[in-house]
Amino acid sequence: MADPSTTLARQIRKEAARLGFAAVGFSSPVPQPVAMQHYTAMLRDGRHGEMGYMEKQMEERADPSLLFAGLHTIISAAISYNYPINYGDGLPKISKYALIDDYHTVVRAKLEELLAAIKILVGEPLNARITVDSSPLLEKTWAEEAGIGKTGKNTLLKVPSAGSYLFLGEILVEREIVSTKLALPNYCGSCSNCLERCPTGALLEPGKIDASKCISYLTVELKRDFTAEEAAMIGEWLFGCDLCQEVCPYNCQASITKNESFVVLQNLIGITTERILNLTKSGFRELFYGTPVFRIGLRRLKRNARAVADNLKKAGLATTV
Ligand code: SF4
Ligand code: SF4
Repeated sequence: MADPSTTLARQIRKEAARLGFAAVGFSSPVPQPVAMQHYTAMLRDGRHGEMGYMEKQMEERADPSLLFAGLHTIISAAISYNYPINYGDGLPKISKYALIDDYHTVVRAKLEELLAAIKILVGEPLNARITVDSSPLLEKTWAEEAGIGKTGKNTLLKVPSAGSYLFLGEILVEREIVSTKLALPNYCGSCSNCLERCPTGALLEPGKIDASKCISYLTVELKRDFTAEEAAMIGEWLFGCDLCQEVCPYNCQASITKNESFVVLQNLIGITTERILNLTKSGFRELFYGTPVFRIGLRRLKRNARAVADNLKKAGLATTV
């Protein structure tokens, strides 16, 4: 017979699967001292680069109950954006997650649908808050705590059968939701592909990243101009970097997303640096509005394109319009 205390969790999981989520899980907002120690060590070492926002709201990060009066459950939800892609040799690359509509919009809309379904299941008023990168949550920690995945040596969360090409979002709710959790294994074992393949040495050791050396940080988060060393580090990546996911065996086996909200913008695959360097503001808007690339603006995209053009030229792989 079904355990009545976990019935709501099972019903929510069923709704989440219907909506296209790869996984959903539940955790209580209890302090996570080990995760906070790792987080503060990263700040202390300066491994967060110039992402000053990571130093803010530390109390809320340590104790999510401060975010939401009456918070009883953090619902962690993951959506896969794993789809096949062929960039073509020697062409500039945009990370997979940025070749589709901005996940902030898509995941929030999906979480709104899930919350509406939860309210119907609960059958009474429910205080809740949706967050997609909009709250100081240690979201991988909460996803692990909820039992939906494990963080690998590349510091990314992996969900069984879905891999690591995932967007995470949370619904914070005032109601306690009891659930059974799977004891997930450590997926990495003796593999170290990601550490060996990272071209900048950003993965210092298993599970430890120096974001200031990571191409994703340099091309997406860093606001100022590059130093010569940073420009060389980004290689052919115009925006983001997927190398430590591309080499992960769990992504080779992961199912392709069935989420129809993500439509791949084919015209951005293999876009040349010349095209970007010649873009006007309106051309930039036309090509990138609604994608994550739009968030960094044309100035920074051109900064990236200049560096990529130089890197491809030095490698004898200059692109043409
Ligand atoms: S995203 Fe790229 S640069 Fe960053 S850790 Fe992974 S492989 Fe290294
Ligand atoms: S590449 Fe290997 S070591 Fe790295 S996250 Fe994937 S399984 Fe783990």
